[in-house]
Amino acid sequence: MKHRIVVNAVPVFVQRLRLHQLAAGHEIGTHMLADVFAGTGIRLCLARVTAVDPERQVVAVAGGGDADAVVGELGYDTLVYALGSHVAGHGVPGVAEHAFHVTARPAALRLRERLDSRIRGHPHRRHRRTGSHPQRADHRR
Ligand SMILES: Cc1cc2nc3c(=O)[nH]c(=O)nc-3n(C[C@H](O)[C@H](O)[C@H](O)COP(=O)(O)OP(=O)(O)OC[C@H]3O[C@@H](n4cnc5c(N)ncnc54)[C@H](O)[C@@H]3O)c2cc1C
Repeated sequence: MKHRIVVNAVPVFVQRLRLHQLAAGHEIGTHMLADVFAGTGIRLCLARVTAVDPERQVVAVAGGGDADAVVGELGYDTLVYALGSHVAGHGVPGVAEHAFHVTARPAALRLRERLDSRIRGHPHRRHRRTGSHPQRADHRR
């Protein structure tokens, strides 16, 4: 019988395409991956993939800070590699400190905090949402 294992670095399913909403002050639901896969026969492994060895057909995983996390190697017959994307600052000075993005939950919360503090400092400003598109999510006047 084939075993299916999902390796993920964090225990929650992050709804990336709604992170601009989180940044704009909306609460977006979180889904525990353990609940998502409960009863499916799919094993969840909370760990970081650190390397893929296609010759030996193994992935190396490092502990994800959870009691169930494994450290070592996982063999595979078929590998679906879907680690998403992340922002690269390319070492441009000031980007890390001053630029904001919404491609990860911590980054969206950082922008949210920034937007909130701007409103707190300028109570006459109004915060208006005009749509769900990332470029149109947040308007002030
Ligand atoms: C604000 C925003 C709005 C968007 N709107 C749309 C839209 O309207 N329509 C649309 O089609 N797309 C949209 N997208 C793009 C869409 O979210 C992505 O294309 C999609 O999430 C990619 O799915 P994925 O499974 O490849 O990666 P992700 O959803 O990023 O999932 C990758 C997973 O891999 C895990 N992971 C990463 N590295 C490791 C590692 N080393 N070890 C273990 N686990 C790891 C992460 O924890 C994550 O759970 C939007 C994205 C953003 C940020």
